[in-house]
Amino acid sequence: MLPLVYENFENEADLAVTNNGHTVQFKLNTNPMPTITGGPLLGKYKFMQFHFHWGAHDEEGSENQVNSHSFPMELHVVFYSTAYGTFENATQHPDGLCVVSFLYSKSEEDNENYNQIINLLPRVNEVGNSAKGIDPIVLELLLTEDKEHYYTYGGSLTTPPCTEDVTWIEFKSTIPLSHKQVGI
Ligand SMILES: [Zn+2]
Repeated sequence: MLPLVYENFENEADLAVTNNGHTVQFKLNTNPMPTITGGPLLGKYKFMQFHFHWGAHDEEGSENQVNSHSFPMELHVVFYSTAYGTFENATQHPDGLCVVSFLYSKSEEDNENYNQIINLLPRVNEVGNSAKGIDPIVLELLLTEDKEHYYTYGGSLTTPPCTEDVTWIEFKSTIPLSHKQVGI
């Protein structure tokens, strides 16, 4: 597949997390914001937030529901088309949003790039809780290095906050986490 192109993913960013009742959502504060181009995308898409889904999910269109080497946990990194200026405007257009999705695999060793995220999770146990990271985070280090082996399709999801028309990019390579880190 045509590779995705990441820009500014290596920037240090401040991390903020909120439990919005649907999911635990992470935002980054950095300038310039990470963007993606290439792959199936026409134009440039800017980072908005990332969040996790735990457990078996029934989101329409997922290609990766059965994978015995994976944790039942999925990362969704949400982007919006810069052509529409703001996230809110972009949600009004069928090509306005893109979600880049990753699964996790079991590893013996902790993935230290995830320590800060995992440490923040207990602080947002309850709906409405929010917290900030202590150290800056680098988005690139949370993801896989592979940028060209993925499934892609258009779809709309029923699970908030993925409620709009979305271009999906689901990477085949997985992100390692240890059992201890996932708490199972
Ligand atoms: Zn999602």
